[in-house]
Amino acid sequence: MPYAKWMTKEQRSAADAIKYANRTDIEIAEDARMMKEYSETHKEELRQRDHADYLARRDEILANAKVKRVNRTAVELAEDARTRHEYNQTHKAQSRRRVTKWHQRQKLIVIDHYTEGKRTCTRCGFSDLRALSVEHIKGGGNKHRKAIQGKIDLYRWVITNNFPKDLAILCMNCQFIRKHSKIVNAKALV
Ligand SMILES: [Zn+2]
Repeated sequence: MPYAKWMTKEQRSAADAIKYANRTDIEIAEDARMMKEYSETHKEELRQRDHADYLARRDEILANAKVKRVNRTAVELAEDARTRHEYNQTHKAQSRRRVTKWHQRQKLIVIDHYTEGKRTCTRCGFSDLRALSVEHIKGGGNKHRKAIQGKIDLYRWVITNNFPKDLAILCMNCQFIRKHSKIVNAKALV
């Protein structure tokens, strides 16, 4: 139905709303068919649009989600824990992968911090990430590891504790050498 020339923008959208609400079953079915067809033929375009919308409102979306998460009731918390547990039980491989990936991300953040992005052993420059780990340069590492074991990921602990100064990134070789040299000459290598 064309709009009358005298109609304002508001009147036009009100007319549209009335028309929309009064669609016949056939019109509703036809609209649904067209929408389905459109979304099937414009998948990539729609995906990009959704993603752009998300990026434009990312901070707001994350902040809202956080408020919601923090304000969960005890019942909601229990329900979330239950669904998470159920998901992990039925998706063991995926959840293991997710935890590993998360751990790797924490590890990289820590390594980047202490090596200023170089990602190498502080002593010898070895660069295989698999053999690099965080070392307590003033000792007490085992005690600390035991204290937080099972409670928090070591790298996560380092991040949440604002990157303590008495830590360094060393390769396994240098850690062993350091351990040994402490016994023979008590001289720290780092
Ligand atoms: Zn090394």
